[in-house]
Amino acid sequence: MSKFAAPRKSLGQNFLQDPNIINKIVEGLGITKTDTVVEIGPGRGALTELIIPQAGHTHLIEFDRDLVQHWQSRAESNDSLTVHGVDVMKFDLDEIIGTTSKRLKVIGNLPYNISSPVLFHLMHYADAIEHQVVMLQKEVVERMASGSGSKQYGRLSVMLQQRYQIENLFKVPPTAFFPPPKVDSAIARLTPLRDIPHPVTSQTNFEKVVKQAFSMRRKTLRNTLKGLLSSEQIESLNIDPSARAETLEVSDFAALSNTYTMNEEST
Ligand code: SAM
Repeated sequence: MSKFAAPRKSLGQNFLQDPNIINKIVEGLGITKTDTVVEIGPGRGALTELIIPQAGHTHLIEFDRDLVQHWQSRAESNDSLTVHGVDVMKFDLDEIIGTTSKRLKVIGNLPYNISSPVLFHLMHYADAIEHQVVMLQKEVVERMASGSGSKQYGRLSVMLQQRYQIENLFKVPPTAFFPPPKVDSAIARLTPLRDIPHPVTSQTNFEKVVKQAFSMRRKTLRNTLKGLLSSEQIESLNIDPSARAETLEVSDFAALSNTYTMNEEST
């Protein structure tokens, strides 16, 4: 009999069981002995057991009480392992960032129901992260990595591409898990851009402009951005007010958002 309780659906517990895929995911992180690695949701340790011997220090963030207990007893006999028994959404990564001078490497086979919120939570710490390798629903990875003009290009693509280089590494079929999920998965690597090519003066306004521009995909910018920017202002940025959001580049959204911020500041 397994020493673990049955997988909890409410916590998105689909555990990896395919050794080739497990190897490939961990390879994607490129761990060295001087690295501090953070794993979100170690579960029963499919990735963790490979990470611990390769890393300088490993931090685990796990929410399931039974699994936290399991990892805490492992940490008692391993100085290079620290366990944080908390909801990742409530965890302040500065607690770990403060313990090392090197940027962190972050990895996680994330519960699908909170995958986008976790990505946005990690964005706050992008300066202190070398890169992050995450498993997500295949369609979410496609949306993250797609370029303007494609059907999948949307709010998630723009928000993440403004801050990260995004690579869609490979697909993972449901058979690689126990129990198998109902959807296909994929592995993405997100590397924070060090010299942000299209900086924004207000992250809040950038989020607001991008959200509003994509709120009705069939409508023109003139309509969706009404109340935020006038047609003249959009045109002054060399952007056609009758264009739709899906045809714009990240640089266009940054320019729109920065003009909106100037508007706000001058009123
Ligand atoms: N890494 C393991 C693997 O690949 O087999 C487990 C992956 S499983 C899809 C997701 C893991 O995240 C589970 O261990 C689950 O308990 C944990 N988890 C779910 N919600 C969480 C949260 N809010 N904060 C931290 N961990 C969470």
